[in-house]
Amino acid sequence: MIDHRRLGRELELFVSDPLAGAGLPIWLPAGAAARHAVEEYVRELERRAGYRHVYSPPLGKRELFERSGHLGYFADDMFPPMRLSADDEFVLRPALCPHHALVFAARGRSYRELPLRVAELGGMYRAERSGVLGGLSRVRAISLNDAHNFCALEQVGDEVREILRLIREAHAALGVRPAGFRLSLRGPDQRYVGDEAGWARAEELLRAALDGVDVVEAPGEAAFYGPKIDIQIVDAGGRESTISTVQLDFDKPERFDLSYTDSDGRRQRPVMVHRSLVGSMERLFAYLIEVHEGAFPAWYAPVQLVLLPVDDAQADAVHRLSREAEAAGLRVEVDEPGSLGARIRDAARRRVPYVGVVGAREAADGSVSLRLRDGRVLAPMPAAEAVGLVGAVVASRSVDLLPPA
Ligand SMILES: [Zn+2]
Repeated sequence: MIDHRRLGRELELFVSDPLAGAGLPIWLPAGAAARHAVEEYVRELERRAGYRHVYSPPLGKRELFERSGHLGYFADDMFPPMRLSADDEFVLRPALCPHHALVFAARGRSYRELPLRVAELGGMYRAERSGVLGGLSRVRAISLNDAHNFCALEQVGDEVREILRLIREAHAALGVRPAGFRLSLRGPDQRYVGDEAGWARAEELLRAALDGVDVVEAPGEAAFYGPKIDIQIVDAGGRESTISTVQLDFDKPERFDLSYTDSDGRRQRPVMVHRSLVGSMERLFAYLIEVHEGAFPAWYAPVQLVLLPVDDAQADAVHRLSREAEAAGLRVEVDEPGSLGARIRDAARRRVPYVGVVGAREAADGSVSLRLRDGRVLAPMPAAEAVGLVGAVVASRSVDLLPPA
């Protein structure tokens, strides 16, 4: 069976060391390179869609999480507070929303600024029991692709539809194949904040935004502050989890007393839309490693091009080509010692999308012959053309290894 933990070890993407602690994996250089490419992509996608990125700390004063309701409703999933002195306690945050509410509250807001989309790829913590932890799919330190969109009530429908469009775009680029959409609603046995009217209105708005989408209703799966749309994935072991989410919240704007001035100069309460396009980096990569069997699309492959001289005589030519590829922004490596066959097999084992072989003839005329991960071998071409080809596929974020003809 495909298992991201085994592939993560074989491809040196991440390591889980008992000395560091269960559920606290360490990203190795190859995994970090892939994650960095994905983070850059998501940040760019959000920036083009009008999001404003912020940084906020992964812990805060106890009072912040009392105000947000997390300590009242969510404390079982949080690490216990850390006491520095009798009146100074800190909490590892279980969510980014409280800090983003403070971003909104940093100064007076006008209706002209709405929707105000506050985004961050930020750290947060969950006190998961050690029995449920494994690899990257269930962790205690989470790096979440998160945003909070502050809207006027009448903007919520369009905003949710636009978020669903961004989610689809990100899934297509990454190769995520969702298993289904879920409308997560209140259940009978849990505690929820907010009033009946707010919940009913939020459910109605989400249903309207989902018009035409095939959706399963899931009572009891709502957040404690509001209903949500969850986009589900299924891992290689058949376990279902949420990768993307859109949540409506009328409660936190009340708790933080958030307001903006409308076009008549009156004070109004914004609605807070919590959303994640691709979930946490940990769960996303647990899924991507399995769905691609480690063979990521070229744009986020840890190493995109491995260059092999047939023998020592081509070493200079290969290093020159490597510098050109590096200058063009590619992640490139030169693999020198050993038999050519063994080096080609090693690149295949590491799922490197492109292998460039330089023999005596290629070195003499400044060309390279490219072998693709899927077995295709291209006729020798000028080195600049090969760098351009790989660069074009990477820039297009295509899942195919050749640019469209
Ligand atoms: Zn949130």
